[in-house]
Amino acid sequence: MVKICCIGAGYVGGPTMAVIALKCPEIEVAVVDISVSRITAWNTDAHPIYEPGLDEVVKKCRGKNLFFSTDVEKHVSETDIVFVSVKTPTKTQGLGAGKAADLTYWESAAPMIADVSKSNKIVVEKSTVLVKTAEAIEKILNHNSKGIDFQILSNPEFLAEGTEIKDLFNPDRSHSKLAANAFLPQRISSVNAMSALCEATGADVSQVSHAVGKDARIGPKFLNASVGFGGSCFQKDILNLIYICECNGLPEVANYWKQVIKINDYQKTRFVNQIVSLMFNTVSGKKIAILGFALKDTGDTRETPAIDVCKGLLGYKARLSIYDPQVNEEQIQRDLAMNKFDWDHPIHLQPTSPTSIKQVNIPSFIFDGWNVVDEGKLRAIGFIVYPIGKPLDQ
Ligand code: NAD
Repeated sequence: MVKICCIGAGYVGGPTMAVIALKCPEIEVAVVDISVSRITAWNTDAHPIYEPGLDEVVKKCRGKNLFFSTDVEKHVSETDIVFVSVKTPTKTQGLGAGKAADLTYWESAAPMIADVSKSNKIVVEKSTVLVKTAEAIEKILNHNSKGIDFQILSNPEFLAEGTEIKDLFNPDRSHSKLAANAFLPQRISSVNAMSALCEATGADVSQVSHAVGKDARIGPKFLNASVGFGGSCFQKDILNLIYICECNGLPEVANYWKQVIKINDYQKTRFVNQIVSLMFNTVSGKKIAILGFALKDTGDTRETPAIDVCKGLLGYKARLSIYDPQVNEEQIQRDLAMNKFDWDHPIHLQPTSPTSIKQVNIPSFIFDGWNVVDEGKLRAIGFIVYPIGKPLDQ
């Protein structure tokens, strides 16, 4: 039986390997991680990450040809192909701090692979790393290898959180990763920049997007105005691109990409300031329910825009009740470093009719950071609704 092993049982490693196990029952798949809590959770029914459809896939394969283990060295030594899906966050110190990708996890995984291997192996780069990293990794592996041959493949992952399982079953591409992760948020910042102009001029950004998206050269996808992009990848990958531009003597190009992040930060600040301004210039002591906290339809709160929005509102002394069906109270407290603020506990709203929320006869506002609510229906029952990028005087 062909054996494959993935180092890193995170948002990419876990689901990717589960889908491979499902599609290739003839392959034995091991997912290994140094995090005992992550592996323990993968081996229960309370998986460490939430993705629509993931539980079912894991359930079908776990214990048959899919295994989760902390015995990293054993599985790496026995495998034919090693996938490496460790994180590559933005460096926090040293050369390139604040921009360059931190390859520490890769740098500790590579010599370990060389050390424990007893046969030739293919090593597959799943993490997002710069072009030419494969060459550096190959040097590390072959330098430490005691005569064993390592072939390195670059196979960056393009799944999007919230639709991981669907994306893994229908992959549409397999190269140019960093550029893609710069172009997508650039598009979001473009439409968000337009949303600010729409609010200032009384236009409707959804109509602008609709019209612009009709141009076949532009296309309709990724043109929804919102409170901003988030997640663990977009900002870090743009920062990495900025770093590479600077290292290659291209400061003007670096500045161009910096602006994508600046607009994103501006959009979140603008959203908070608009809430304050429209709630009669103060939110101090006012109770605000935050519905949804994690990234899209997941439990992942890494760099979610909700964190910045909540921190901004707490800074203005609002009283927040935060609810997300996939995120527990401890996680929210960690993300917001809640000891700095007073706050209300997460509320537990059931999916409910707006009428039951609107019980009291005081002005009740809805600020829609994703332009998803039915404005007309909510206004009809007395809510004051503010979507993003639409005329404010409705
Ligand atoms: P993650 O933090 O969820 O998972 C990484 C895992 O690697 C962690 O569980 C960690 O404990 C483990 N790990 C670190 N060093 C290890 C070692 N030496 N041995 C064994 N395990 C080790 O990260 P992620 O979100 O899955 O991202 C992984 C990579 O994939 C990153 O480079 C990211 O940029 C890229 N990527 C992420 C996404 C996404 O949506 N999350 C999409 C595409 C690509």
